Amino acid sequence: MTRESSHRAFERAKRLIPGGVNSPARAFGAVGGEPIFFRRGEGAWLVDVDGNRYLDYVGSWGPMILGHRHPAVVAALEEAISRGTSFGAPTEAESELAELVIQAVPSIEKVRLVNSGTEATMSAIRLARGHTGRDVIVKFAGNYHGHVDSLLVAAGSSAATLAVPDSPGVTAGTSRDTLVLGYNDPAGLAEAFRRHGERIAAVICEPVVGNMGCVAGTPEFLQAAREVTARHGALLIFDEVMTGFRVAYGGAQSLYGITPDLTTLGKIIGGGLPVGAYGGRAEIMDAMLPVGRVFQAGTLSGNPLATAAGIATLKVLRDGDAYAELERRSSRLASGLAASAAASGVPVHVARCGSMMTLFFNAEPVTDWETARRSDTKRYAAYFWGMVERGIYLPCSQYEALFVSTAHADDDIERTLAAAGEVLAGVGGL
Ligand SMILES: *Cc1c(COP(=O)(O)O)cnc(C)c1O
Repeated sequence: MTRESSHRAFERAKRLIPGGVNSPARAFGAVGGEPIFFRRGEGAWLVDVDGNRYLDYVGSWGPMILGHRHPAVVAALEEAISRGTSFGAPTEAESELAELVIQAVPSIEKVRLVNSGTEATMSAIRLARGHTGRDVIVKFAGNYHGHVDSLLVAAGSSAATLAVPDSPGVTAGTSRDTLVLGYNDPAGLAEAFRRHGERIAAVICEPVVGNMGCVAGTPEFLQAAREVTARHGALLIFDEVMTGFRVAYGGAQSLYGITPDLTTLGKIIGGGLPVGAYGGRAEIMDAMLPVGRVFQAGTLSGNPLATAAGIATLKVLRDGDAYAELERRSSRLASGLAASAAASGVPVHVARCGSMMTLFFNAEPVTDWETARRSDTKRYAAYFWGMVERGIYLPCSQYEALFVSTAHADDDIERTLAAAGEVLAGVGGL
């Protein structure tokens, strides 16, 4: 398999764009080598600029739950383009997408559309602070909420101390308003509320984490987060940018039966176009301008293309048997990967929630960032490249989830398992 054209495209991009990429997750930093440049997608497949074909388990990092160029999405986009791409004025499609979201997600009574997941979380925490009149946000190590300054922070030297910046350019002042705690640790959360409860505006978490690899919140932990926030007058924000319409049509909150105060969405609700959203109880959402006084705006928010792709995607998911099929194929993939690893003597932990999963090269169950970080990233890199050479495109980091789409057919899954069997046999010797 040659990737000469990808190499040349990357050389050019590096001269023009920092690191040659518009998002660092694409840079292959964690697996070494050079990113692959793609030219087209078709169903479960990607074709690179050299003409190589790959089964795609990245799915644009989550949005492409129907695969690439799903006919319903393409038709909706073509129809929308024929009427104009942006007006900066209200359209009926915005209400249609909002209605689909509200009908699907238990906690959402009103929703505001934005352009990315980052915008959604940034706006949700501003709303939480505006609504409660408090400053401090609690987040959990290994959870990612976009590149919002106050969420781009790392734990201080001891748990339940205030955070420190996790990127140059994030000020110490900003990070002092964020607490970083251990995930799946109800006791740590209770302790933080004992010490800082009257200052905490909100707890934000991924109910099923995708961003340290796939790690599910325990029901006890998420229930504790619900109870402690309610008791202290703080808001609970579920960041379902990845899990919304992925792990179930109603998101992770519908699986756990827990109702957060605010929910952030993105990825799937844009059907492959840039969209985010935040929503919750009407009484909280009405604190936003122009009803209330919390400011948030967007020139392209709710634009006709993004809403068309989102509506088409959600309707396919709502009306078909997508989730049953995704569950069946994803379960086959997970059990096949575990069996291959066992046969090759490679210690792994396969974590899965619906159609998102991670093969952790880790002998112990992964429950939080402390256990996740002990994974063998060298083995993951070898596995990743072995799979690429066999035409399987996986996330380029141990700490990202892979996604199965409705376009992955049974024989695609079997092809993937055959490749993984060969590759894992080689990885065992590392
Ligand atoms: C992807 C993601 C974000 C950020 O969304 P962008 O559209 O990349 O800004 C936020 N939260 C979670 C849980 C995500 O997976």
